[in-house]
Amino acid sequence: MKAGFQSIASPEGQADALDVRRSWHPFTQMQEYCSLPRVQIASGEGCWLTDVDGKRYLDANASIWTNVHGHQDADLNNAIIEQLGKVAHSTYLGLGHEPGSLLADKLCELTGLDRVFYSDNGSNAVEIALKLSFQYFQLTGQPQRRRVIALSNAYHGDTFGTMSLGDCGVFHQRFDPWKFPVERIPAPTCEEFGGEVFSSDMEESLAALDAHFANFGDEVAAVILEPWVQGAGGMLMQPRGYLAEVQRRCREKGVHLILDEVFVGFGRCGPMLVGESEGVTPDFYCLAKGLTAGYLPLAATVSREEIYQAFLGEFGEYKAFFHGHTFTGNPLGCVVALKSIEKLETLIHTGQLADTIEAFNEFYRELRAELPESFSMRQRGLASALDLPAGDASLRRGMHFCIALREAGVLLRALGDSLLIVPPLVISRDEINFLKSALLDTLRCKAYL
Ligand SMILES: *Cc1c(COP(=O)(O)O)cnc(C)c1O
Repeated sequence: MKAGFQSIASPEGQADALDVRRSWHPFTQMQEYCSLPRVQIASGEGCWLTDVDGKRYLDANASIWTNVHGHQDADLNNAIIEQLGKVAHSTYLGLGHEPGSLLADKLCELTGLDRVFYSDNGSNAVEIALKLSFQYFQLTGQPQRRRVIALSNAYHGDTFGTMSLGDCGVFHQRFDPWKFPVERIPAPTCEEFGGEVFSSDMEESLAALDAHFANFGDEVAAVILEPWVQGAGGMLMQPRGYLAEVQRRCREKGVHLILDEVFVGFGRCGPMLVGESEGVTPDFYCLAKGLTAGYLPLAATVSREEIYQAFLGEFGEYKAFFHGHTFTGNPLGCVVALKSIEKLETLIHTGQLADTIEAFNEFYRELRAELPESFSMRQRGLASALDLPAGDASLRRGMHFCIALREAGVLLRALGDSLLIVPPLVISRDEINFLKSALLDTLRCKAYL
């Protein structure tokens, strides 16, 4: 780890010096970043990343919640290498390709939906669902359906549309003048970790939804939510059964249901897709993060045939969906997604993912037994948060803890004083034990225990 400017004599030092001099990192106070120890990653293998000095770290946030099968997975690498021997990119604007068609077919099979619109990140997948919903209602004679209902603590991305949907406090506040209005209902609540639910409530949330629908149901285009776990909101859990209740109400009112499974999709909490596992078929699924196993930027918005049909007509009617991104449907992304889904189906069907989740449940039960009550925790599947005891947020204790944790060989990123622990789906029992020791040692070392 490096602090401040490094000698550029060594290639390692040069990477860091140029980082400080030239890079602008996302969601990062660069003044702070440049003054603190930094890590320059050189390579990865399995659940581990190695820095330019050869130090190894457990990738305990799965490279921001994306990694599924580990780094340098031979099957995933080979899928990309094989496709590279054919073509790296060819546009999806007016042309097709086999990887795009095959993946679209697979995503329809998984979602129970019919049509796939590709893009290249989660924010765009959500923007597209929203625009498709608005345009659908214009095209089908219900232009008054313009309102959107979203949950408290929601996060759907950082573009203007998705910032409007989000409820991210100070993060997006300065852009309030440019956001469009969104109806907000309280998220349901659920306290869960270690495979056990301690309390839950969805009545307040559903009552608020009912009230909105009673007041202006005919003006609502869509309800959007992150099913099961609001990740960026701080790993806030929802009770099982909530989704079906929301879907029933949406169907009654003719309102679209958009499931943003950018975080929870592809096995993060156990099921391939949460909606499907809850018996819910939404009007739109938004998929990204785990879609390519954390290899390449690819996203998909999956929708129903009836919605697609509404956009058909003569060109001059201008019913087409005028939206697209240059790297939409990138073939390298599609082949790695197909291979990852195939491997993930095996992990799920053999019970291997369930075993890993049980080991992670146990990890949380052990943490609960070993940590004082002042620590709180939330966990479902491999999505989780451990909160440091309440304290002064301006001290940046979460960030400083994560920097100290690197010495013990673990990479994590904190959200305030919450440690968000979201490992690759293939983390082993030994690696979970390593994580536990590193956490407890660092808590002792930082005098929390
Ligand atoms: C990460 C995330 C997004 C945004 O995806 P990007 O690829 O970062 O644009 C949207 N929704 C949810 C639930 C997410 O976790």
